[in-house]
Amino acid sequence: MHRSNSGGRKDQNDRLLYEILVTIFASLNIVDLAVASLVCKTWNKACRDPSLWHKLDLSTLTSYCFNTPPNKIGAYRRSTSKITQFFKHILGLSDGNTTCLIFNYYVYITDEQLITIAERTRKLKRVVLPKTGDFSRAGVNSAMKLWRGLESITITSAVPGHYIFPALGRYCNNITEMKFSCGCIFEEKHAEAMVKYTPNLKMLSIRSIPASMKALQCVLSFLEHLKMVNVCHSFIRDTSDRRLYGLGFEDLRNCLSPLSLGKLIYCEGYLEGGWCLRCQNGHDNSRSRQPYGPLEDVWREDEITSLASGNHNIIPSRTLTLH
Ligand SMILES: [Zn+2]
Repeated sequence: MHRSNSGGRKDQNDRLLYEILVTIFASLNIVDLAVASLVCKTWNKACRDPSLWHKLDLSTLTSYCFNTPPNKIGAYRRSTSKITQFFKHILGLSDGNTTCLIFNYYVYITDEQLITIAERTRKLKRVVLPKTGDFSRAGVNSAMKLWRGLESITITSAVPGHYIFPALGRYCNNITEMKFSCGCIFEEKHAEAMVKYTPNLKMLSIRSIPASMKALQCVLSFLEHLKMVNVCHSFIRDTSDRRLYGLGFEDLRNCLSPLSLGKLIYCEGYLEGGWCLRCQNGHDNSRSRQPYGPLEDVWREDEITSLASGNHNIIPSRTLTLH
């Protein structure tokens, strides 16, 4: 009897310790969590708790771990084997429980690394693709084939549109959210590909990138489920006009139907006291965040709450209003 009580107390204490460790580990970044998992068996077990791995935010990888210069796009390129080893370790801890994956803005990713990660994140629903990397059509196809449950994707200039869209059409039939990140250009060929390969799209963000007015009109006309388009700080232009100037608020009002106009999220910009994340983060002049810090925020975050991928405060969506 005594032994039984003692055994029960020990189980209770073990359970309490486990829960305390998981609570503490939830506040760690991905690198510190990886280090904690190497301390002892008890810590390693707590580090594997599924709740810690639903969102895998690689943007918290910091350069001191890999001895590379900070805030440099394409950094870590010479650390490929070390990075691969790190990915395998953390994805082993995650045990396939990750549903949201955010790549690092600065880390250069190879085909092999993308597939290695996709093989270990098969439950993925949202991905923010790498900003830099070297990808083949076959590599992108393999990753999307493994990510069949994907619902939300942030596309970057590192992955060519003629690779990603056919792959999404073939394997990922549940895509309802898409964001084009900085570095991309939103052109008519993209709009046509979206109508063809991702017809169920509900949310689109083309914030802070150059965009074609015809492409915008195309998605607003032919994607029947589209509810919201973020055009904050987009450089929207009429591509049939050779002059390089962007269309403003009044031009949008003239070019789009009231129904289409009502779907846009728009920011007037710095001078008019802009409300969006870009306006707020663009003023961050701290040295450690330069030169790409504000861009990194724009890459990861969005005013469409469901597309946002970080822990910053999300500003409520604001749509254009007709006067
Ligand atoms: Zn703004």
